[in-house]
Amino acid sequence: MQKNNAKREKAFLVGVVLKGASRTQIDEQLNELKFLADTAGADTLSTATQIRHKPDAATFIGKGKLERIITQATGLECDLIIFNDDISPTQIKNLQKNAGEELKVIDRTGLILDIFTKHAKTKEAKTQVELAQLEYFLPRLTRKWTHLERQMGGVGTRAGAGEAQIEIDRRLIRNRISRLKLDLVAIEKHRKVQNHGREGAYRIALIGYTNSGKSTLMNALTGAQVLVQDQLFATLDTTTRKLDIDVGMPVLISDTVGFIRNLPHDLIASFRSTLGEIRDVNMLVKVIDASSENIPKHIDTIEEVLKEMDMPSKTNIIVFNKIDAISAPDILLGLKKRFKNACFISSLNNSGIENLNKKMQE
Ligand code: GDP
Ligand code: MG
Repeated sequence: MQKNNAKREKAFLVGVVLKGASRTQIDEQLNELKFLADTAGADTLSTATQIRHKPDAATFIGKGKLERIITQATGLECDLIIFNDDISPTQIKNLQKNAGEELKVIDRTGLILDIFTKHAKTKEAKTQVELAQLEYFLPRLTRKWTHLERQMGGVGTRAGAGEAQIEIDRRLIRNRISRLKLDLVAIEKHRKVQNHGREGAYRIALIGYTNSGKSTLMNALTGAQVLVQDQLFATLDTTTRKLDIDVGMPVLISDTVGFIRNLPHDLIASFRSTLGEIRDVNMLVKVIDASSENIPKHIDTIEEVLKEMDMPSKTNIIVFNKIDAISAPDILLGLKKRFKNACFISSLNNSGIENLNKKMQE
């Protein structure tokens, strides 16, 4: 998607109900995809779903369905078709061929990478995101790619570039990837030096699904002014502050990038150094949006990402945030019954924060 904020793009979302999935699951996922698209700067004009036993090898969805979607999307003057699933490089190429020049085809991973590109602020975040993006892009290199144009001065961005040109572009991208990896090593080293003074401190990290209210809680706990937004992945960079609780040693708390279902592997790999900060902490505070309809999925996602990071087990506290926004009282009662040791708070209204402080202190 273009960086130009003034012009919103128009998107058509496609979800496939594969064997084992339910229609409700796909509807929830499409809602999240819509939120992701919105964050990236695209309005969703329409969605389509298809039930399949397995993906079509060539085009992921069936040929007839694809034609109907393209006709509809073209009729609505959409700029984008966004697939909820990860589409293989070959499938994307075929889909793109069918859709033509005017209609960009991307998948969920491509969309998430796009949001990360938009929200990366520090040199470290920018380097990590560019690395993830080029690694994702390399096997898919076929056509005009606006990000690459921005980053590499127009290389490989001509639509319908010949095979020879694409080979040259691939080599340039591989060189750029090696360069970025070296840069990251240097940045990481520099950070280690910077963090040296933190060694005697007790360290806590706020983790959780994106938009669960981690940054709001961080601000409520420490008076920090981390960016809070009703968006996915508003904050990518880790912020660390002193926490004012009395335990006989300094206590530091960090707010960091959020998690999401099926976080792209390339992103986890390139965010190794950002996420790596979490590995060294003494305590994890898992922040869950109590008003969400997908609490179990959000809890599973936290555990999955931690596993993927090879996180050693740590002391942890579960925090249900946004209790002010829960629709029915019995939902809160149910949660309290199931999660007896959890904290129930509203970071927005500053309620339950004292209790959480006490729990962390204990
Ligand atoms: P993060 O992505 O986990 O860092 O989430 P943010 O702190 O940026 O918050 C995401 C959205 O949830 C923002 O619109 C916040 O205002 C909102 N939010 C955070 N905490 C609460 C809360 O306790 N209650 C309600 N109703 N909204 C909250
Ligand atoms: Mg945040």
